[in-house]
Amino acid sequence: MATESPEKLLTPVLSAYWDEPEAWSLETYKRRHDGYEGLKKALAMPPDDVIAYVKEAGLRGRGGAGFPTGMKWQFIPQGDDKPHYLVVNADESEPGTCKDIPLMFANPHSLIEGIVIACHAIRSSHAFIYLRGEVVPVLRRLHLAVREAYEAGLLGRNALGEGKHLELTVHAGAGAYICGEETALLDSLEGRRGQPRLRPPFPAVAGLYACPTVVNNVESIASVPALMNRGKEWFRSMGSEKSPGFTLYSLSGHVAGPGQYEAPLGITLRELLEVSGGMRPGHRLKFWTPGGSSTPLLTDEHLDVPLDYEGVGAAGSMLGTKALQCFDETTCVVRAVTRWTEFYAHESCGKCTPCREGTYWLVQLLRDFEAGKATKADIDKIDDIQDNINGKSFCALGDGAASPIYSSLQYFREEYEQHIEEGGCPFDPAKSTVWA
Ligand code: NAD
Ligand code: SF4
Repeated sequence: MATESPEKLLTPVLSAYWDEPEAWSLETYKRRHDGYEGLKKALAMPPDDVIAYVKEAGLRGRGGAGFPTGMKWQFIPQGDDKPHYLVVNADESEPGTCKDIPLMFANPHSLIEGIVIACHAIRSSHAFIYLRGEVVPVLRRLHLAVREAYEAGLLGRNALGEGKHLELTVHAGAGAYICGEETALLDSLEGRRGQPRLRPPFPAVAGLYACPTVVNNVESIASVPALMNRGKEWFRSMGSEKSPGFTLYSLSGHVAGPGQYEAPLGITLRELLEVSGGMRPGHRLKFWTPGGSSTPLLTDEHLDVPLDYEGVGAAGSMLGTKALQCFDETTCVVRAVTRWTEFYAHESCGKCTPCREGTYWLVQLLRDFEAGKATKADIDKIDDIQDNINGKSFCALGDGAASPIYSSLQYFREEYEQHIEEGGCPFDPAKSTVWA
């Protein structure tokens, strides 16, 4: 859909003041973002009413799965004598996904305010931020913002009023992709090797230290203050009935204007490309990921798919983390898929056989396509291996590893055949930018 002013499609909320000097400070947050006003409203409400409000607003998890946030909070048992925990999953590592890191760097107080609101709602007195350890500047900034919040009385003693305290711990992980899986994250936070746990029980029942725990993504929690302050009707005025609100899309690859674009759920890639300057000059879109490499590839036929959970689902993929990696016609799809598969093989935690063995063998076979050693039978073999991983692995990493394989076979099978017929990659490495 073409519009006169494509920028009007954007709805900057979390990213509204990212470029301002000292955007990250408590003072700027309070002055420019109505900072901590949402918290005042939330603290004036009983916890259950806050949960109901977030449920009615329809906020869905922004980490990838789109699970309703209010419903997740509601799963926390009330009236029990165990501590409740909130754990913010800030271990962003899905290939192409780069929204939580800039959000925490530029606007850490939106996350901290959201944490205090969520802890009030689920009756928690201790929250954790599990951050990807490599991003040291973000770690420093979070420490600074948390200190500011403690000094201002927004955290610590009586932070939740009526004598209720709230502690917030920032924990730096050691940089394993699997630690973004919520139960592996909890194991890692407890000081163990990060490997997924069997679910159920879900963390809401037995999470950190076997206590009821909400694990939410950074963007989900950071969206709560604006929702509380400006109201559920305002939130629902954006997006669709089932996928309401605004969200951050990460645009990358062969595009003229890579970066973060905050827009209502349901915007299309065509519209986002209009806003951002399109593909790089002289080139056209060949394939793209709607939510990082764990979501099945889409093609230029899908430019008008609404980027919400239902729209992308109907197109045969998943919205995931909204990491829109765009590749033009110079890209060898087999090469791109090989590169992603190498990543999954490297990051597989090794706990279950389909993923541990399957990703290894996929890499070996895919490399044969590039080296001109593959045969027609190898196409069926990679299809068979992905089918033995997909839905048969212990956690979502396995499904993610299978996604680029089966979707590339669905749309670009002839490119695999071309590698066999031409004895190697038919693409000119000098022109392609996906050569590791
Ligand atoms: P999931 O659908 O299994 O669960 C989503 C959330 O809902 C979880 O927090 C889970 O505990 C909760 N939940 C689901 N059913 C429940 C129930 N019956 N009772 C209580 N709680 C319940 O998805 P997942 O395996 O947690 O995550 C997969 C997603 O992660 C993928 O869609 C992918 O896009 C995304 N992902 C994100 C990143 C990143 O860097 N942000 C990296 C890899 C994958
Ligand atoms: Fe580990 Fe992969 Fe199995 Fe997940 S699917 S438990 S990452 S081996």
